[in-house]
Amino acid sequence: MALRDRARERLAALEEAGLLRRLVELEGPTGPRAQLGGRELIGLASNDYLGLANHPELIDAVREGAARWGAGAGASRLVTGHMGAHRWAEESLAGWLGRPMLLFGSGYAANVGVVQTLVEEGDLVVSDALNHASIIDGCRLSRARVVVFRHRDLAHAAELLETHRSSARHVLVVSDAVFSMDGDQADLPGLRALADRFDATLMVDEAHAIGVFGPEGRGASVAAGIQPDVLVGTLGKALGLSGAFVCADREVIDLLTNRARSFVFSTAIAPAVAAAVPVAVGLTRRADAARAHVESLARRLRTGLRAGGWAVGADVGPIVPVVVGDGGRVLQIAGSLEERGVLVRPIRPPTVPVGTARLRLTVSAAHPMADVERAVGAFEAIR
Ligand SMILES: *Cc1c(COP(=O)(O)O)cnc(C)c1O
Repeated sequence: MALRDRARERLAALEEAGLLRRLVELEGPTGPRAQLGGRELIGLASNDYLGLANHPELIDAVREGAARWGAGAGASRLVTGHMGAHRWAEESLAGWLGRPMLLFGSGYAANVGVVQTLVEEGDLVVSDALNHASIIDGCRLSRARVVVFRHRDLAHAAELLETHRSSARHVLVVSDAVFSMDGDQADLPGLRALADRFDATLMVDEAHAIGVFGPEGRGASVAAGIQPDVLVGTLGKALGLSGAFVCADREVIDLLTNRARSFVFSTAIAPAVAAAVPVAVGLTRRADAARAHVESLARRLRTGLRAGGWAVGADVGPIVPVVVGDGGRVLQIAGSLEERGVLVRPIRPPTVPVGTARLRLTVSAAHPMADVERAVGAFEAIR
């Protein structure tokens, strides 16, 4: 069968299952309002939690970075792509979080590269069932044995460790800090204790936590009073840019610099973006009022939706999932909300387990409370 025919067949199957995805094009920057189809909608779908992606100081920093360092790095950091802009970015992140740093092109690349570097054949990974796809892909690439524990069930994780620890050389326990599609949080002190008990390394992915939780937005691990051995954070969510960072002990950072394939074999993050990182870090550190506003927006959204009978998950943080179940139905609801001026995105398998299709609502510090009130009203109207 010709490739085109096969592709057409598979697309038809996705459409039938209510799982076909299409790109939605914004006609302007991300922000509390989204320009779409010639209209302005309340945008409740971006991960720009602090409203920094369209912040004038950050835009200026990118512009100045491009003027000074150029539009592209031209090579991998290990070849000739390493510039002062990258070093300053890492220094500013290290100053904020207190540990050595390495930039990656994206959170996806960071997770794939880190997991694949930390464990190899003969090792064991103990991974939460709802960990991000990039962690799962890193596990697959590593050739280590992977065991998956039920979401947030540390008793189950301990059971798996009891069974498999002795036959493995190194063990990596890995979890998202805040789960991207559910908005709930890992028990980080519990994971730290578990890793210590079984002589394992703890890796925490703070993609949705960095900038949002903890003093100065230093993340969920700092808020919980623990230190993971390896922490991954992204620059593309609360920090408003793109790219990611990994922090760990110096030796681990040096090993990643040598062996993480998504670092070694990939062009350095654009210097204009790297040059803006210190500005993003500064804005994030000073954003306590914004963080408090985000929390009150999210609280109002949850209360309003629950009062309307919607199944709302997670009790803290800017991610407010509304679980609907059926992929087709979730698409329909998203369409109705869009007609009423609210942009939310349907999240369907394989991003979430079958039967748990949902709307994933997110709030940003740039939203006035009135936006949330209007969104709650739109949900009421279609209930
Ligand atoms: C978004 C996300 C990533 C990937 O980060 P990008 O910079 O978007 O590639 C990794 N882990 C989690 C938990 C995420 O939500």
